[in-house]
Amino acid sequence: MVAMKKLLISATLFFTVGSLCAQTGVGRVLMLRPDAFPPTQETVSGKALTMATTVEEMASWDRYPTYETYLAMMQRWAIDYPGLCTIDTIGTSVQGRLILAAHIMGSNAYQQVRPQFFYSSTIHGDEVTGYVMMLRLIDTLLSSYGTSQRLTELVNTTDIYINPLANPDGTYYHGNHTVQGSRRYNADGIDLNRNYPDPFGGSAKNLPQENEAMIDYVSAHQFRLSANLHGGAEVMNYPWDCFTSIQNPHPAASWWKEVCQRFVDTARAISNSHFRDVNTSGVIAGGDWYVIHGGRQDYMNYYHNCLEVTMEISSVKTLSTTQLCEYWRFLSPSLINYIAEIHTAPLLGVDEVVSQQEPMLDIRPNPTGDMVWFSCPTKGGVELYDAQGRRLQLLPQGTQSVSLAGLPQGVYLLRSGSATAKVIKR
Ligand SMILES: [Zn+2]
Repeated sequence: MVAMKKLLISATLFFTVGSLCAQTGVGRVLMLRPDAFPPTQETVSGKALTMATTVEEMASWDRYPTYETYLAMMQRWAIDYPGLCTIDTIGTSVQGRLILAAHIMGSNAYQQVRPQFFYSSTIHGDEVTGYVMMLRLIDTLLSSYGTSQRLTELVNTTDIYINPLANPDGTYYHGNHTVQGSRRYNADGIDLNRNYPDPFGGSAKNLPQENEAMIDYVSAHQFRLSANLHGGAEVMNYPWDCFTSIQNPHPAASWWKEVCQRFVDTARAISNSHFRDVNTSGVIAGGDWYVIHGGRQDYMNYYHNCLEVTMEISSVKTLSTTQLCEYWRFLSPSLINYIAEIHTAPLLGVDEVVSQQEPMLDIRPNPTGDMVWFSCPTKGGVELYDAQGRRLQLLPQGTQSVSLAGLPQGVYLLRSGSATAKVIKR
């Protein structure tokens, strides 16, 4: 019965390409104040990087907002849609810029527990296509509420959080007035997407300020499904990033492949030339493309049991403003459908074995190359599971160590009674 209900919800939440384009194709006029300043036009290598210095200038969605315009847009949505949108401050950057999220909540009439969804973009400051896509997505969800049955239902059944700009110091590296000269790193020269706690390294030391704030924010929520938007390629990069799929496939790998392929196919049905610069499918397991450590995707999957994917959405990192509307045209149905995927998302294997609330086994060393020693807080045996939740060994009562020799590199779970610990085999 529950499964049937889930299916019904998900079926009504998905869009056909045609219907969504009809709903979102019109550039909505956002706001109001007459413009006191002419638009700032800048070019890099012949590329237009036109800036909007007022909220009104964003109405046609073919500009990047100045930092002040971005703040004004977020504030305006909270004012224009009370009860539907609030703005959360996730934290501040090294240079004191705000890291914000729009929280979009449906009607009180639907007060069942709603799964929490999170979009975040532009952790690499020069990968700005997703920044504008996220702003336009916020505007579309809010302005369609009550008029589009499907979007209204999506907002009523899902707790949606959207952080358009995770690295404002990188994006506005040359000043709040321009994205020209934006860069990948934060103001301290740190790559934020290499400095999250990692399944291999345990808790990262000297966390960048932006990541510390983001960790506090996601720790205060229970995000079930999320995505981190990048540029520089067009491919759906699903977890893990720190393992190859042969070393350690993600427990939900088959679901990820389906979801990512739906995203790509829906976009290609509108504009067939996209998502082709990495491989033919447009979908790849992160570690099979290239292995990284300290990425946010793996942090979210590993530490929060949140299904996060990395969306590489434009081959050009700092897209010309003349192309922003075209990217919205072919990406927006996929971006909206991806939110609805939360209603079909599986539980992670590890999550099915045991919840995170239970007491921890004290184990060491972790990560390990082979042996793991533990002090057992409860009586009874110790069980060893793989990341898919399959029990590999049952060790008798009194056992104080287990050998992982012969097992592939990856994440494992030890359980004794209600106490658990994740252990990493290097
Ligand atoms: Zn990136």
